[in-house]
Amino acid sequence: MTNSYSWGAKWIIPIDQPPIENGCLTVVDGVIASLEPNRQSDATEDLGEVALIPLFVNAHTHLEFSGLSEPLGEPGMLITDWILQVIKYRSEQTAEQKNAAVADGLKESLVCGTTGIGEIATHAWFQELALTDDILVRCFVERLGSSEIASAQIEEAKNWLANHAVNDVWYPGVSPHAPYSVSDELFQGLIDWAIAESLPTAMHLAESREELQFMETGKGAFRDLLETLNVPLPTYTKRRPLDYLKKLSLAPKPLVIHGNYLNVAELDFIGQHPHFNVVFCPRTHAYFEHEPYPLKDLLRRDIDVAIGTDSRASNPDLNMLAELQEVHRRFPDIAPEKILEMGTLAGARALQFENQMGTLTPGKRGEFLTIPLEPTMTPLESILNIEF
Ligand SMILES: [Zn+2]
Repeated sequence: MTNSYSWGAKWIIPIDQPPIENGCLTVVDGVIASLEPNRQSDATEDLGEVALIPLFVNAHTHLEFSGLSEPLGEPGMLITDWILQVIKYRSEQTAEQKNAAVADGLKESLVCGTTGIGEIATHAWFQELALTDDILVRCFVERLGSSEIASAQIEEAKNWLANHAVNDVWYPGVSPHAPYSVSDELFQGLIDWAIAESLPTAMHLAESREELQFMETGKGAFRDLLETLNVPLPTYTKRRPLDYLKKLSLAPKPLVIHGNYLNVAELDFIGQHPHFNVVFCPRTHAYFEHEPYPLKDLLRRDIDVAIGTDSRASNPDLNMLAELQEVHRRFPDIAPEKILEMGTLAGARALQFENQMGTLTPGKRGEFLTIPLEPTMTPLESILNIEF
């Protein structure tokens, strides 16, 4: 027997087509069956003066920090000082505490209306925690380290994934951490693996001025950090994020995490390779007091920009609506429709979940978020201004 239910609402905002006024959304057996402008006649239940929108996709986070009640350090701190605090915090967490934090982060995400997550995993929590079909997780196994341990790092990651049962809610990916923490050998090995196994690939890139300085000269705060940590310095030749982008572009689905300080040639390169996604983490960006984010430069080139919370180590929570509202505050002239698309469809595309979520479209998961409308505002403005 089929299970069918229809909700009527003042507005339905499907994302992939114009908003439907006085619409009716029908879900059959957990899958969206139809959207029609026939609120009065066909709805099983009328939700009233609300907008229905797709649930959010958080394209970048590190759930192992979800146990933190506030970000580490303080706003505007040097990123390398923050990294030292991250390392210290992580070293004090047991495997059980990390798993519990991941579970908390999944729960918090769901409560905030997020059902797609791009997770950077430093330990194999996914082998132990049972995921429900409420949330889809693209789990990027993160690797970092010097050339000496590159093959061991890759081997371990391969074993993690090989030992994980394939299912409908968990999907693998790979993440070379960042230019300052990944040797050329490890980076190349991970890219080769991503190509061989068709794995999406996420890399933190062009996040800080200090990172660019280290790439350019081998000096500065990151050199100090690596010396403090007593890890071997990479044998750098002068380079730019573009050198990484060229290699990442060979992978089937590359994600540039942050990209705060990409130059024109790098923005152009990404624009010329439409399989790239860039992930903007608005409140984390604000926390570090970076220079203004090049969001308009990205969008002008038709680059697919998704939104991430990053972790609770640099953000007070994992609430995607708060991220979209932050984008709206910082970029008031970017169309609200575009901002909502970044938090839903663009994230779904980045994680290759677009056949299942990201829009209210027949055939996708029968789930939506209900947002009360502010009478003096358009539905999109209501969403980006509502207090919660
Ligand atoms: Zn991150």
